[in-house]
Amino acid sequence: MARITSIKGRILYNSRGSKTIEIDVISDNKYLGRVCSPSGASVGKHEAISFPQNKPEKSLELLKNNEKKFHNLDSSDLKSIHDTLREMDSTPNYSKIGGSLAFALTIAAVDSASKALDIPLFKLLSKKTDHRFPFPLGNILGGGAHAGPGTPDIQEILICSTGSKTIRDAIETNLEVHKELGKILIKKDPTFTNGRGDEGGWAPKLKNDQALEVAAKACEELGFTLGKEVSLGVDFASSTQWNEKKKKYIYDRAGFENTPQEQIDFASEIIKKYKLVYAEDAVHEEAFEEMSALTKKFPHVLITGDDLLVTNTKILKKAVKLKACNGAILKVNQAGSLYDALEFAREANTNKIGIITSHRSGESTDAHISHIGIATKSKMLKVGVVGGERIAKLNELVRLAEYDLIRGMVEI
Ligand code: PEP
Ligand code: MG
Repeated sequence: MARITSIKGRILYNSRGSKTIEIDVISDNKYLGRVCSPSGASVGKHEAISFPQNKPEKSLELLKNNEKKFHNLDSSDLKSIHDTLREMDSTPNYSKIGGSLAFALTIAAVDSASKALDIPLFKLLSKKTDHRFPFPLGNILGGGAHAGPGTPDIQEILICSTGSKTIRDAIETNLEVHKELGKILIKKDPTFTNGRGDEGGWAPKLKNDQALEVAAKACEELGFTLGKEVSLGVDFASSTQWNEKKKKYIYDRAGFENTPQEQIDFASEIIKKYKLVYAEDAVHEEAFEEMSALTKKFPHVLITGDDLLVTNTKILKKAVKLKACNGAILKVNQAGSLYDALEFAREANTNKIGIITSHRSGESTDAHISHIGIATKSKMLKVGVVGGERIAKLNELVRLAEYDLIRGMVEI
């Protein structure tokens, strides 16, 4: 057993250049666990707040004043570390200490324990032996809150190499499609600047339907059949479009509005036309009934809640009761601590809800979520295709494939 001997924090910067915190947890005076917190741009109403009063410095100050409370705790004992954080902050959304502190401290603790015990993090988090690789799911074309004016309203068009048998093939296929799409965009518009959104997907001046067309074309030009070797997914991030006053989805860039029923039809058409394997937040974050209608209509598509569930076990229980989704995004910093997120994963797995462990649009170069995706038996790992902070997570999967500990891919 390794015991926490010191904890230190610092201000760093995420992939968007915004301030964030990094936490070092040291066990037995020598084993360093180090984690930097990510942050979202399209943020769910009920997710943990990043920092108290939006000030990372405040979280660090609180840590400094309370650091000794963590000394001597077993660094692999997530429950005790979580409970100690909860003594500092019992608010549902970590408004006192900030979810970023809960995120970084709990993951850094187990990172440090994995080094002290000399076992990979995913093994420490899940003692089971039947580990599998999740399918990488990556953003190839971005819009909405992740890209500038002129890009689609839809936040993300995603690629998943559903026919791959190995993790390397899955990563390389996604890379190939991303590259091919870049070529097609240049051909279509010679003034295209190769601009990319926050998660590395191309950010062209296109409407939603045109964007989906070119994404499908990229797959087909490579000789792939949609729904077979590769499949497309979409994160509609519909809360961005939802106007509570008008009770309508406002598609500013494309120039139309959808009633709740029209939004279901809009999403359904896209799911059918592009044979999507994955549809995230196709309706807004409080539209549980509409999510249920889509889940019933498309039992073989991962109808997934992100802003809908915000990695919150209580909300997931409500969604399960209403059959509002069959897929759940797991973003540790939405929940707060890793302990919270693993509880969420347990609930999802018990109820046969497919887990998609996910990055945030503002990321660090850490790769812990690759381990968390494996440990939680995630069906997919949503971490982008290109960009240093995205590739870091994919490269970690390639390294893990060198050990004979993970046997093949999960079943979607
Ligand atoms: C998402 O919405 O799924 C996402 C990754 O974006 P963000 O981190 O901005 O919430
Ligand atoms: Mg999302």
